[in-house]
Amino acid sequence: MVARVTDACIEPRGVACRRCGEACDSDAIRFRPMGGGRHATLIDPELCTGCGACSPVCPVSAITLVAAERLALVEGIAELGRTS
Ligand code: SF4
Ligand code: SF4
Repeated sequence: MVARVTDACIEPRGVACRRCGEACDSDAIRFRPMGGGRHATLIDPELCTGCGACSPVCPVSAITLVAAERLALVEGIAELGRTS
């Protein structure tokens, strides 16, 4: 399993949270500046062990665990939605 952040995450809206990053012992979660105090919450699938520690601490249930082999498909569909 691999963790995935959904659009429900509040960091890209300028709300400081980062609880998932604090819970991740594998240092798999990064926050990339987007300007204006907003950040993109990114999970490195190479570092994520699928332990699930980041999911219950999220106040808006923005993290889901998906099978590693499904991640590329899910991300591909999300990308199509952004570009169409
Ligand atoms: S599932 Fe575990 S290793 Fe993966 S991002 Fe969440 S806390 Fe980190
Ligand atoms: S805990 Fe949830 S809302 Fe907070 S930064 Fe992580 S994914 Fe976003």
